[in-house]
Amino acid sequence: MTIFEKIASGEIPAKLIHETEDFVAFHDNNPQAPVHVLIIPRKCILRVALAEAAHADMLGRMLLASREIAEKLGVLESGYRLVINNGRDAGESVPHLHIHLLAGRALQWPPG
Ligand code: 5GP
Repeated sequence: MTIFEKIASGEIPAKLIHETEDFVAFHDNNPQAPVHVLIIPRKCILRVALAEAAHADMLGRMLLASREIAEKLGVLESGYRLVINNGRDAGESVPHLHIHLLAGRALQWPPG
């Protein structure tokens, strides 16, 4: 089981912000912005490059849920960034697909 599967099942505690049958969102424990949430599928997909057509509906709903989460956390109007790190050069550190939702400060572009 990945660390994120353990969070999704409740085995490891996390501050959940949103959950559905097949994905959950929780606060990152090493936040890089005042708002830093991770949206993950309950069942591990290693990374977005390994997602399959069967995951398309859930991935779409995860993206749509980001709006609801941003609204819940009061950053819908100020703005937020969604990031998926895929592989070594992107800085992926947990091999379980996750969407970062970052907000609450002016974010730099391009990212470092
Ligand atoms: P990546 O670098 O793979 O794109 O992002 C992994 C993220 O997971 C990092 O931002 C890291 O802080 C977060 N993270 C890793 N382990 C845990 C954990 O046990 N709990 C929570 N809430 N976040 C975690």
